[in-house]
Amino acid sequence: MTPETFRVEAHRLVDWMADFLENIEEYPVKPATKPGDIIKQLPTSPPLQGESFDSLFKDFQSVIMPGITHWQHPHFHAYFPANGSYPSILAEMLTTTLGAQCMIWETSPAAAELEEMVMNWLKEMMALPAAWHGVIQDTASTATLVALLTAREKQSGFRVNDEGFSGTEKYRVYCSSETHSSIEKGAKVAGIGKKNVVKVPVDDLQAMKPDELEAAIKKDIQAGYTPLAVVAAIGTTSTVAVDPLKAIGAVCSKYNVWLHVDAAYAGTALLLPECRWMMEGQELADSFVFNPHKWMFTHFDCTAYFVKDKEALIRTFEILPEYLKTATRGQVNDYRDWGVQLGRRFRALKLWFVIRSFGIDGLQKTLRGHMSCAEDFESKVVNHPDFELILPRSLNVVVFRFKPVNENNLEKLNQLNELLIKTLNTSGKVFLSHTKVKGVYCIRMVLGNTRLEQRHVDEVWAWITDAAKSL
Ligand code: PLP
Repeated sequence: MTPETFRVEAHRLVDWMADFLENIEEYPVKPATKPGDIIKQLPTSPPLQGESFDSLFKDFQSVIMPGITHWQHPHFHAYFPANGSYPSILAEMLTTTLGAQCMIWETSPAAAELEEMVMNWLKEMMALPAAWHGVIQDTASTATLVALLTAREKQSGFRVNDEGFSGTEKYRVYCSSETHSSIEKGAKVAGIGKKNVVKVPVDDLQAMKPDELEAAIKKDIQAGYTPLAVVAAIGTTSTVAVDPLKAIGAVCSKYNVWLHVDAAYAGTALLLPECRWMMEGQELADSFVFNPHKWMFTHFDCTAYFVKDKEALIRTFEILPEYLKTATRGQVNDYRDWGVQLGRRFRALKLWFVIRSFGIDGLQKTLRGHMSCAEDFESKVVNHPDFELILPRSLNVVVFRFKPVNENNLEKLNQLNELLIKTLNTSGKVFLSHTKVKGVYCIRMVLGNTRLEQRHVDEVWAWITDAAKSL
């Protein structure tokens, strides 16, 4: 491709991008694609001769676009959002254009220093402890792995890293039965073992019971295990349940256990002073993760990870081959020592653009708008005789089900709700996902897309009630 073609095509693409985002509601949120539909349209071998961008873009539109799920659609209410925003896109364009690989300060000083500053900004914006140290990771799963590895190294006197497991270590990690699967994955990868993840029971609001945590820790100590880490969830994936951090932190302090806080989704709500009750006891935490790439309008991937003991983190991950030795070492942050990967994208730029473009005020207004949409949706559910709220709304997530007045059979209700989601999702108008709470199949309504407005709440409620009537 020549520079001239690049210029022409880039202008064309920006117009396409702007049109796409302005008209996103015309696209089906979830494609009707069946397995194999896309791959069968792709040539089995790559081309020998280069092709024009025109033919590439035509295929993008005709082959790829029909198989895309539209996460930026305001009626994407499934899972958690992976929000973007205009400033974030513009930053990604620049990041890609620069193509900087930001493994150490020397390989892009501005990227390292901007990362340090935006992570400090986040601390201030979210009222997190000033003594924490922030670093951007790719995903919350990686950040949790980093936390578990650091806890493991600190506990072992930084021995396992050098010598490997001796075979006598009997580590245990604790989280609630509702905690995200990335904790188990982290324990597997860190060599702790899935069977050594202890699932602590939850209360009626799906939050970890601290007395049960303490009982489990005591029992394990008596049985010869070493309690290594507790992962508290501020916003579980299923129902956005909030574990009681202060009480959990007190148990961790008593038994000298690393406390990691997984606020992957709900962490963004800490931008709102009225939501900071969730982090009461935060000074007891050793590490904390949240994903700006979920609810903070910053494109995937961008995970904010904070740690109290920076030295332990760096000691766990530092590696210094000859070719990476620099004169600035010790005076600057070389982020390759703050996590698993060596090569790093310049992720701080999009966070910087998003924070500056929205302003704290703009971010807060947007989040409060989402909360009020969720409040309205919750009241619609509560006031309809054929629908049932399963748990009180947590932030902007409403967990509910269709329950016709005289229907009490659990199996039948579960099937009805499964069918309701299927009917709605195949309509292309909306994408919903489900969870199970104590055997009850429920619909999770997440009202957090960048483009969400009150009219979308009214629309989706009309579609849900109409579809339920037709079952
Ligand atoms: N923790 C929680 C509570 C989550 O909800 C999720 C994903 O939804 C994760 C961790 C994993 O996030 P990531 O995809 O960034 O690894």
